Amino acid sequence: MSEPKTDANNDTKAETKAETKTYAGGCHCGKVRFEATLALDKVMACNCSICSKTGGLLAFVPASQFKLLSGEDATTDYQFAKKHIHHTFCATCGIRSFAHGAAPDGSSMYAINARCLDGVDYDALPVTRYDGRSL
Ligand SMILES: [Zn+2]
Repeated sequence: MSEPKTDANNDTKAETKAETKTYAGGCHCGKVRFEATLALDKVMACNCSICSKTGGLLAFVPASQFKLLSGEDATTDYQFAKKHIHHTFCATCGIRSFAHGAAPDGSSMYAINARCLDGVDYDALPVTRYDGRSL
């Protein structure tokens, strides 16, 4: 038995619940294309040395929810500092549409740049500021 959903039909609420769905995305020139299944309930703006320059809005998914459709041989893998994270960018157009690395628990995670997802109104997404510079 499930709990009754009291506000399921209440459309007047300002709060929007992001549904989990599969988004397509990629770089600017189109060589890098991927699919990611996630709920865009929040995105992260980080101030670390690379994010402050690339300006991405990041959403995180486990590797099982990310699928690279094309462009594996079109990307360049940039790593710096502790080299924990693979900053993958398109060698042709330079867009960093995703990065990947190990989460603190050791599992493989992808950080998707929500600005690179097709048809997403990223200005409407709730942004969480993350102080990556202090790490
Ligand atoms: Zn490209």
